[in-house]
Amino acid sequence: MSIQIHPIKAFTDNYIWTLINKNNKQAIVIDPGQSAPVVAYMQEHGLDLTSIWTTHHHYDHVGGVMELQEYFPMTHIVAHSEHGVEEDQTIKDGSTVSAWGCSAQIWDISGHTATHMAYILDVDGHKHCFCGDTLFSAGCGRVFTGTIEQLYDSFKRLNELPADTLLYPAHEYTANNLRFGLTIEPDNAAMQEALAQAEEKMAAGVPTLPVTLAHERAVNVFLRIKEPSVIAGVEAKANVDSDKPLAVFAALRELKDNF
Ligand SMILES: [Zn+2]
Repeated sequence: MSIQIHPIKAFTDNYIWTLINKNNKQAIVIDPGQSAPVVAYMQEHGLDLTSIWTTHHHYDHVGGVMELQEYFPMTHIVAHSEHGVEEDQTIKDGSTVSAWGCSAQIWDISGHTATHMAYILDVDGHKHCFCGDTLFSAGCGRVFTGTIEQLYDSFKRLNELPADTLLYPAHEYTANNLRFGLTIEPDNAAMQEALAQAEEKMAAGVPTLPVTLAHERAVNVFLRIKEPSVIAGVEAKANVDSDKPLAVFAALRELKDNF
């Protein structure tokens, strides 16, 4: 099965990740915060929208759902019961969703919100993880209605995916996150290189995403909380019990809030 994955840009820095089946011209969108860019893309490419998947309830992720449902009445909505949409399939941790015979596993990766889901799609044995606002390249989501403990556990869980898993966050925050990361780990060469590449891509209007988990393990301080260089960087800026990974993670999140 060949599924193409394309980012439709929305608002200023959102990506509506779109799964496209070229054989039958059907498409699935994930987190359509706006309907207009999705409708335009479907028209331009002669695609039929058959399903919408949501990761969490924030407006910039579900705001376009109702209008898209009016425009494409056969669209099947997949969401958690707390996502504020009238879903056809209610998901929770452990659920499975299907995309043209490929299956996506649902993981609860809350923390940013209390009911944040990830879709881990398996295409020919290769995993594609749609992680919404939980993990961004080189960063992580803010804590709103979830807790920092949940976010910490969600990062631990995402880190258990195979290293070549492709991660598809919902925002283009990469360059700014790397600038923050370099305040913690100024000598991290992988981060320096990633920032140069991200700046180049942004200047050319090219998304920095998706990224592999292996890449994130090298450049994302929130996945690197046990590295001595990260612990030292946090200790230099905050009072933290650095023997506790959760405390390091929470201190990093707080430093980023004020960055
Ligand atoms: Zn959000």
